[in-house]
Amino acid sequence: MGKIVRALSEDGLVKIAAADLTDAVERARNIHRTLPVVTAALGRTMCAASMMGNALKDSGDSLTVRLNGGGPVGTILVVSDSRGNVRGYAQNPAVDLPLRADGKLNVGAAVGRDGMLTVIRDMGFGEPVSGSVELVSGEIAEDFARYFVDSEQVPTACALGALVDRDQHVLRAGGYIAQLMPGATEETAARLEDNVQAAGSVTSQLMAGTVEDMALRILKGFEPRLVETDTVEYRCDCSRRRVLAALSGVTREELEAMLEEDGRIEVKCRFCDAVYTFTAADEELFQGK
Ligand SMILES: [Zn+2]
Repeated sequence: MGKIVRALSEDGLVKIAAADLTDAVERARNIHRTLPVVTAALGRTMCAASMMGNALKDSGDSLTVRLNGGGPVGTILVVSDSRGNVRGYAQNPAVDLPLRADGKLNVGAAVGRDGMLTVIRDMGFGEPVSGSVELVSGEIAEDFARYFVDSEQVPTACALGALVDRDQHVLRAGGYIAQLMPGATEETAARLEDNVQAAGSVTSQLMAGTVEDMALRILKGFEPRLVETDTVEYRCDCSRRRVLAALSGVTREELEAMLEEDGRIEVKCRFCDAVYTFTAADEELFQGK
C-alpha cells in the first residue's frame, strides 16, 4: 500500500503533503509495461495527482491531471479519487532515451516542454473546474510548482521522484508538496527553501527513511506535527456496467457487424489490465437498441 501524510507547522503557516507511492507506480509499470523513463514520468505525475486528489476530501470528487509537452511519451493522464487512490497511463509506454550526463533518466526530454499541464477538479456536480499552465521543463515537479503559483496563487515547493532499478522495477516513488499560507514571511519562505535543498532527493529520503521522516524534515525548524495519514493504492473503477454505458453510442448494426467478424467484442480498459468480453448471447449489449 502507498501512504500520504500531512503535517503542519506550529503557527499553521506552512503545510506539507508527502507521499510514498512505490507500490502504486510499480503496479502501473506492470499494467502498462512502461520503460524506465516513462515509469518515472508517469510515476511523478501519479504522485502529484494523488496528493492533490487527497486534498479534495469529499468522497465522489475526483481530480484529473493531463500533461503533454510534445515529447515522445505523448499525453500522460492520471486520475485520483478524493482519498488519493490513482490510476493513469502514458500514451507511449515504450519510449527509450539515453540517460542524462548526470546518469539520471531524461524525463524532461521524454515529456518535452512545449505544451500544457492541465488539472481538472470534478466535484460531482456542475461543471468541472480546470486550470492550465504552460510547461516549464517537462521534469514535472517544477511544472506542478508553477501550476500552484500561477493558477492557484500559492507559493509552493514541489519535489517528485521515481527511482527505477536496473531490472526496471520501481525501487521508490514519492514526493511532497509544501505550501505557504497567507501571512507567511520571507524568512519562512527562505527557511523552507533551505530545508528543501538540505533534504536531498525524494527517492534518497525514501530509501533512507519513512515518508513521515521526509515530511518532518522539510518542515524542520517549524515545530511541525503530523495531522493526517491515509493509505492509498493504484485503483481502477472500471466495470462491465461502465463498459456497456460506453458502448451505448454504438448502434445495433455496428455491434452485430463486430460480432459477425470476430464472434465477440473485447474492450480493454485504458487504465488497468481488465478486458471485458461480450458475445451475441449477452442480451445486455442490445438493451435499448
Ligand atoms: Zn480498469
